[in-house]
Amino acid sequence: MINTLKLGVSGINLGKSSKNESIDFKAVRREFEMLKNVGGEVDELIFTDCVLGEELPMNLIQRGLKLYPSIEEMKKIREIAEEMKVKVGGHASFLVNFASSSEKVKRASRGHLTALCRRMEAAGGIYAVTHLGFLGEKSEDELKDEIAMEIERIISKIEIQLLIENSGKRKGVGSLPFIIDLAEKTGVKICLDWAHLHAYGRGTIRNSEDVRRIINEIEKRLGEFEDWVPVMHISGIKYGFGGELEHLGLNESDLPWYDIIKVLNEIGVNSIIICESPKRWNGDLKLLKKAILGEKVEIKKLGQRSILDWIEKY
Ligand SMILES: [Zn+2]
Repeated sequence: MINTLKLGVSGINLGKSSKNESIDFKAVRREFEMLKNVGGEVDELIFTDCVLGEELPMNLIQRGLKLYPSIEEMKKIREIAEEMKVKVGGHASFLVNFASSSEKVKRASRGHLTALCRRMEAAGGIYAVTHLGFLGEKSEDELKDEIAMEIERIISKIEIQLLIENSGKRKGVGSLPFIIDLAEKTGVKICLDWAHLHAYGRGTIRNSEDVRRIINEIEKRLGEFEDWVPVMHISGIKYGFGGELEHLGLNESDLPWYDIIKVLNEIGVNSIIICESPKRWNGDLKLLKKAILGEKVEIKKLGQRSILDWIEKY
């Protein structure tokens, strides 16, 4: 067996409550250390609650939103990462929405991605990942060209590798076929979230065969899997009629995460796999590392489909 997968973690949230608040660099260092201790190499820094602007008005604070860290602070993170030999990626704000019919929202979305990319460049980061937004009046098919144009516009202005993540929610933009089309059209690469894929399809990944089928689908259209999917996300997941409800621990859902790792190992995929489990620091990173190394791990399978959610729909 060739163990080429690189383990990473959904990391520290770098959003700040005020401009004057400093990033907790000690906490960053501690996290990098913990990651190294479980054999991890990549920390995906979180900017999911970040809004653009210089200060936070009360209504945004109440919504739990944060400000972006400064470029200077990101340079300091670069120093710590280099010293600790950890690579960093960055996850974009959930406010990014290229599916919006509002020009204002689309402009802000461009602003968010540029803000993130500039910060990740300052941090010596290896990638920035984003979702595309939520469906409004238009279908994915109708949004195809518009979104491709937005993505092309952004990648022409940034240095860092931008990745597009598939949606877990069915009202989100980012079914697997949509993401593959976008990659084919623009050359943008993919962050494949296995749990999202499973939830979007309301439980589509049942075994190794399904995993191989998905990998083949990507390779048939784009080429070598690891070239087009340099980063993946994984966790357990709870889903319902509308797809994703929430992330769960690896052994708390019916996603066959171990089969996914097994197949990736068999193929010898040389990508990064980021653990997004809420239990990542309570055993799941270790579990994932064991699986990557081909060691035997205890697998529990639970059905987590929310039946009540289905009933409500009909
Ligand atoms: Zn994800």
